[in-house]
Amino acid sequence: MHEMAIVQSMLDIALRAGEDAGAKRIRTVRVKMGEYSDVVPVIMREYFAVAAKGTICEGAEIEIARIPVTMRCRACGWEGRVDRRRIVCGGCGGIALTLLTGREFFVESLEAE
Ligand SMILES: [Zn+2]
Repeated sequence: MHEMAIVQSMLDIALRAGEDAGAKRIRTVRVKMGEYSDVVPVIMREYFAVAAKGTICEGAEIEIARIPVTMRCRACGWEGRVDRRRIVCGGCGGIALTLLTGREFFVESLEAE
């Protein structure tokens, strides 16, 4: 059900932006998504197709760009990319890490007609 709420807000953003621009149809919705985000793209696309029926977003393609996971070490101050399967500091090997990027999910841009 998590995806449903996300899709609804994606659709709201796309519809509002499309109306403001006087678009007849939205062809592509480009979203940015962190690698650590728990959104499942397949489910998201399915929900979107259903939710967008009868709107200017009907049939729109969803393009997903990934944002890598980066963290900061609270022990040594190291910052960098972290493998989500092995979350340790690249400097000291510690595990007291704060997430900097990787959980994002937002609409980046739209392609309209
Ligand atoms: Zn460290």
